Amino acid sequence: MDGTTERIETVVIGGGQAGLAAAYHLAERGHPFVILDADTRIGGTWRDRWDSLVLFTPARYCGLPGWRFPLPDGSFPTKDDVADYLEEYASRFERPFARIPAWIGYPAMATAAASSFGPGTSGSRPRT
Ligand SMILES: Cc1cc2nc3c(=O)[nH]c(=O)nc-3n(C[C@H](O)[C@H](O)[C@H](O)COP(=O)(O)OP(=O)(O)OC[C@H]3O[C@@H](n4cnc5c(N)ncnc54)[C@H](O)[C@@H]3O)c2cc1C
Repeated sequence: MDGTTERIETVVIGGGQAGLAAAYHLAERGHPFVILDADTRIGGTWRDRWDSLVLFTPARYCGLPGWRFPLPDGSFPTKDDVADYLEEYASRFERPFARIPAWIGYPAMATAAASSFGPGTSGSRPRT
């Protein structure tokens, strides 16, 4: 993408639970989008946490729209279960959409309605 600008209707900043759920609903409605995430992997923020971390929320309540969490309802996912789930969830979209790593700093975050982005030194740089 060097020296080029790509126009995308919606840029979702952050591919955690909120960003992935938003992406699901955009995809359902046929709206073009891209997710930019600062991490090198979807779910990376979970992988980096301490080894013994287990969610206090049972798996029944950990799923995102369209795909339930793949553990028994009453079990408690580990941080790696969550990271794996998010990564697998992202891979289920019809086409690759995540540009990572792409750290988006202020003021781009304040103008989240970014309508186009071009290359930056660390990935993609949104412009409105
Ligand atoms: C230790 C811990 C345990 C928890 N346990 C539970 C639990 O048991 N049950 C429960 O319901 N909730 C739990 N939570 C809360 C839960 O993690 C959050 O509610 C949820 O992760 C929020 O999702 P999110 O997508 O809003 O944010 P995040 O999961 O934080 O995702 C944000 C994403 O945005 C990316 N990002 C951030 N800044 C930028 C930037 N400037 N540019 C580009 N990308 C960026 C990050 O890399 C990340 O991927 C826990 C949280 C923590 C910290």
